[in-house]
Amino acid sequence: MTGKNKWMKRDLNKFKKLILEKRNSTLDSIEKARKLTDNILEGGSVNAIYSSHMADAGSDHQEREKAFYWLKREMDYLQYLDRALDMIDDGSFGVCKECGEKIPEARIIEVPHTSTCYDCKTKVK
Ligand SMILES: [Zn+2]
Repeated sequence: MTGKNKWMKRDLNKFKKLILEKRNSTLDSIEKARKLTDNILEGGSVNAIYSSHMADAGSDHQEREKAFYWLKREMDYLQYLDRALDMIDDGSFGVCKECGEKIPEARIIEVPHTSTCYDCKTKVK
């Protein structure tokens, strides 16, 4: 490693701050999704709204699916962000694992947990 394809410490600190911000808003989302799913499990508001309308039983089921899907997606995202933070600490963050080049900053900002550059990601194998 010549160091040419590595991010500077101050860039990494900037990315770290960005990831921590995303992590905080993800934790908020998880909290909200949890409340919603808890509510559904306890037969709360969603059931109460629909129970008097037999025709809407399907929607109730859909709402439930949606809430659980949302919760799962946010929890997966949290794991990705945690992994990205680990990668910042061990120095492998922001470098494409396929071609070894630095991942463009715009892509990192958009998808901070990515480990491949756009070209490698979209390359047909
Ligand atoms: Zn690449």
